[in-house]
Amino acid sequence: MAGIYIHVPFCKQKCSYCDFASFPKEIGKAEAYFACLYKELKARGLQLKDKKFNTVYFGGGTPSFVEPKYIYGALKQVLTCFNVDKNAEITLEVNPSTIDEQKLKVYKNAGINRFSVGLQTANDNTLYSINRIHTVEDFKKAIELLKDYNVSVDVMIGLPNETVSDVQNTLDLATSYPQVKHVSVYALKAEEGTPMFTRYLNGELLSDDEVADIYDFVVKYLYGKGYERYEVSNFAKSGYESKHNKNYWARGEYIGVGVGASSFINDRRFTNTESIDEYVHAVLNGKVAEVFSEEVTGDDAKAEYAMLNLRTSKGISFSEYRSIFGTEFIVDFSKAIKGNSNYLDKTADGLKIKDEYLYVQNSILVDFISEKQ
Ligand code: SF4
Repeated sequence: MAGIYIHVPFCKQKCSYCDFASFPKEIGKAEAYFACLYKELKARGLQLKDKKFNTVYFGGGTPSFVEPKYIYGALKQVLTCFNVDKNAEITLEVNPSTIDEQKLKVYKNAGINRFSVGLQTANDNTLYSINRIHTVEDFKKAIELLKDYNVSVDVMIGLPNETVSDVQNTLDLATSYPQVKHVSVYALKAEEGTPMFTRYLNGELLSDDEVADIYDFVVKYLYGKGYERYEVSNFAKSGYESKHNKNYWARGEYIGVGVGASSFINDRRFTNTESIDEYVHAVLNGKVAEVFSEEVTGDDAKAEYAMLNLRTSKGISFSEYRSIFGTEFIVDFSKAIKGNSNYLDKTADGLKIKDEYLYVQNSILVDFISEKQ
C-alpha cells in the first residue's frame, strides 16, 4: 500500500512562521497550475499502474482556498489514473475561514472523507499576530460544518507569550467536538527568513524548556480525553490514526505531485521544484519537474528506517526489520542502543524511545543515524 500527496501552493496570505511552498500572490496561476497537475498525475499514474494506493492527501498551501472545482478535478484524475483502494482515506487540509457549504458539497461529491483543520490556537490576538487569516469564530463554524466527517485539528505550541492556560483553552475547544478524532500538535519553529525569526532574535519566543513543559501538559491532557499519542506530534482516538502519515513513518512508498512535493518510490526519493513557473514550464514541455533525486539503499535505508520508526510510540519491530533488511537491528545498531539504553524501552518485538523522552528524541536519533554513516 502507498500514498498520494497533492500539493496546493496557494494561500490568501503568508503566516509569519511559514516557510512552506505557498504563495499568497499567485492565485491567478491556479488554472495553469491545476492543468499541469492533472498532466503530472496522468504521467505518474502510467508509471505506477502496478501499485495500489490507500491514501490521498491534499496539503498546502491552503487547498480549501482554491475554487473547489480544482480539488474535484484533481481527485477525479487520481481515481482515473491510479489504482486507489475503494476505502481509501482521502484528506483535505482546510483553513477555517475558507470553507463553506457550497465547497463542502463539491468535496463530498469528489470523495473527500477526512478534513485536517488548522486551528493553531484559540486566542484571536495570537492568531492575528502570527498573520493567520481566521478567527476562533471561523473555526467553530468550520467544525460545525464538518460534523459528519472524520476531522483532525492542528494545534501549535510555543507561540509568542503563550501560557499553559492558553494551550488548555485551545485543546478544550478542539476536543469539545465529537467529530474531532485526531489532533496534531507541532512546536513553533522560527525558520530563518521568516518574520517569526526576527521575533526569535528579539527574544520574544518561549525557551525550549518552556515549550517542553507545555508539550508534557498536552500529552497528559489529550490522554485524559482519550487521544493516544502514536507519533511525537500526533494523537488520535483509537482507530483514527492518520493512515497517510503512518505510511511515511513506516517508510512506505508515496508519490507527491505539484510544486515542492516529495516522493519515495522504488527506493528513490525525489522532490519537485518549489517554483510554480518552473513547474508549469517543465510539465508543459513533457518533462519531470524534479530538482532533487537520490537512491536510498543499504545503510542509508537502515538509518532511515530507524529514524522514522523511532519517532512513533510503537517503535522498532525487530521481526519487520529482519524481513526487510535480512539482518538484525540489535547488531546493526549495537552502539546506538548501548549508548542510549537509559532512553529506550524493550517491547514485545523490539524497542522504542521511552514515552518521557519521545519529545527530545533528536539527540537519540542522531546516534542511530550516525552509526550507519
Ligand atoms: S496557511 Fe499554511 S501554508 Fe499557508 S502561509 Fe499559513 S502556514 Fe503557510
